[in-house]
Amino acid sequence: MRLVILGGSGAGKGTQAECLASHFQVPLLSTGEILRSALALKTVSKTEIDPEIDPLVMGLAAQARGYVEQGELVPDEVMIGFIRQRLLQQDMAQGWILEGYPRTAFQAEELDFLLEELGQGLNAAIWLEVSEAVLIRRSLARSRSDDTLETVQRRIQTLETATKPLQDYYGYQQRLLLVNGDQAPETVTAEILRNLAVLAG
Ligand code: AMP
Repeated sequence: MRLVILGGSGAGKGTQAECLASHFQVPLLSTGEILRSALALKTVSKTEIDPEIDPLVMGLAAQARGYVEQGELVPDEVMIGFIRQRLLQQDMAQGWILEGYPRTAFQAEELDFLLEELGQGLNAAIWLEVSEAVLIRRSLARSRSDDTLETVQRRIQTLETATKPLQDYYGYQQRLLLVNGDQAPETVTAEILRNLAVLAG
């Protein structure tokens, strides 16, 4: 199974991605989570390379810090390079769940090129639909370091301008599953699984 989970920060992508990864027994790759944990460790020791972290992730974190802290998207070429190298690794060969990636049309196109090159197909793009008010409320409630009101508002703006067009991108490919994310997590998961079964025919 190969799925991408899309939606705003606070839409519940992380929770759903975890449930789906465990349901389908495939690895989960969450770009936001990878970035945040690498940056948190790097704060402790800014100059030293932490041997616990994959050098690929260290390289990504070094280029991404300012953007994540400001609530802005990390440049496409940085993210695309990282995903490319990560998806070529052996543990991803049998399927995966990508959470928070792609976030721009360019990332989505490059992902398609890469999958074509690998002879792999995407099963579906799941978009968790949640109102702006709920996104703001959930983000501020979890109070991560990149969840100030200013960064939350900037992320919502970016969601509208850069990421929303992916609905059309995947809609056109007939791979889009729009799911109401403002429901209990178990209900959202059940709805996704039901929709995936329909999509698979
Ligand atoms: P998230 O937890 O998915 O909301 O991601 C947190 C932050 O990581 C975002 O605000 C971006 O700065 C960065 N980020 C995560 N995924 C991507 C991506 N696919 N493209 C660009 N930036 C990303």
